[in-house]
Amino acid sequence: MTQDTINKILQFRDERDWNQFHNPKDLAISISLESAELLEVFQWSAEDVNCTEKLNKIREELADVVNYCVLMADACGLDLDEIVEAKIKKNNEKYPVELAKGSKKKYNQLKKG
Ligand SMILES: [Mg+2]
Repeated sequence: MTQDTINKILQFRDERDWNQFHNPKDLAISISLESAELLEVFQWSAEDVNCTEKLNKIREELADVVNYCVLMADACGLDLDEIVEAKIKKNNEKYPVELAKGSKKKYNQLKKG
């Protein structure tokens, strides 16, 4: 995500003076609720993997999740690039390519050697 997009999200919040409501707890709740709305797109769906017909709703709910993630990072003083890069590094250590490639096993079930 570009800094310009992040700035637009923060500007939207600031123009409405909503920062006063955006504490980390309520933002975490909002991320979870919007994630549930994203999941709701697939509720009772016989073909969970086919999302072409649901793409407009997915686009909207995914954007809601990401917007709240940006707001949460701002409320906590976190740099999204920095924390995502740190998590990728951690995941690379948990899931080495030579053990995890083509596998859906959890990291603690991957066998070494
Ligand atoms: Mg939503």
